[in-house]
Amino acid sequence: MSVLVFVEGLNGEIKKSSLEAASYGSQVAQQLGTTATAVAIGEVQEDALARLGEQGISRVLYDADSRLNQFVADAYVKVIAKAAQQENAKVLVFSNSNIGAAVGSKLAVRLNGALATNVTSLPKTDGGQFVVTRGVFSGKAFADVNLAADVKIIAVKKNAFEITQTAGNTATVEKLSAELSDADFAAAPKETVMQDTEGGVLLQEAEIVVSGGRGLKGPENWHLVEDLAKALGAATACSKPVSDLDWRPHHEHVGQTGITVSPNLYIAIGISGAIQHLAGVNSSKVIVVINKDPEAPFFKAADYGIVGDAFEIVPKLIEAAKAL
Ligand code: FAD
Repeated sequence: MSVLVFVEGLNGEIKKSSLEAASYGSQVAQQLGTTATAVAIGEVQEDALARLGEQGISRVLYDADSRLNQFVADAYVKVIAKAAQQENAKVLVFSNSNIGAAVGSKLAVRLNGALATNVTSLPKTDGGQFVVTRGVFSGKAFADVNLAADVKIIAVKKNAFEITQTAGNTATVEKLSAELSDADFAAAPKETVMQDTEGGVLLQEAEIVVSGGRGLKGPENWHLVEDLAKALGAATACSKPVSDLDWRPHHEHVGQTGITVSPNLYIAIGISGAIQHLAGVNSSKVIVVINKDPEAPFFKAADYGIVGDAFEIVPKLIEAAKAL
């Protein structure tokens, strides 16, 4: 019996959210007195896979079938299920990413397992139970759920767990072949287009996000967001009306109907903090709000707030960030 962690790659490296999942999986394995194995799919460099040893992973099973370089849910599920069967894995762990969410429910059906998404705690295993806490209602409440099936599937909330690091530890990397057929790619996308990234920082993976709202008045003022993001090595984002007005591309819109981000630092400039916006950003570690209205709802969710005119404050922040 082992714990199996599914890790996602990005540009040959392992995604930060998957390193969090690997750290979580290793801790669960330790709790259960077993080992944690990872399964990786698609285009990931082997030395990046070996470095998963630093997160406590002992072995990595790797399916390098080039057809898996783009995400195809059915094919990914088949590979993960094959690895789970080979390892006799009773606990499967992955990040609560878009890909994680897409494979989680399919895996639960295939393996007759119990699935918990958006998980924020290690399991409590007293009395033969397996209880994890998960965020519900867009992170406004938490629920404890007992995963009673033989196979437990856990999608870990992004940024809820630290990446553990034991320098120098390496995992062994072994080839895995799930013998995929054309039928497994029946619902493959015709083409996958990577979103444009500001300064190369992918919004979902960014450590720092600088986000602008309607308070910035128009696209001609977006240099304020871009310059601050550049100075901080951050990704840029926006509120929904901003993308609806075509001031910014839709892939930058965060919130209930857009992307969910969980950076270490989220800087909101001229955004009111409507509940639908907060739903996409409230798992950020530190939130800084700049708004000229002291009654703006966002201040209630903020760790730090600056009441004032963005057009006066942001240029000063840019100067300060450049001087760091
Ligand atoms: P506004 O509400 O217009 O706020 C602008 C803010 O800028 C104000 O607080 C104002 O005080 C401040 N401001 C103005 N001038 C300045 C200045 N010079 N300096 C500093 N501050 C200034 N919204 C999302 O963002 N994401 C979603 O996913 C989303 N999904 C939705 C889903 C549904 C079903 C619905 C009904 C709505 C959704 N919305 C979403 C819209 C949401 O309700 C809000 O309307 C939206 O978030 C407001 O955007 P905003 O804060 O940029 O604009």
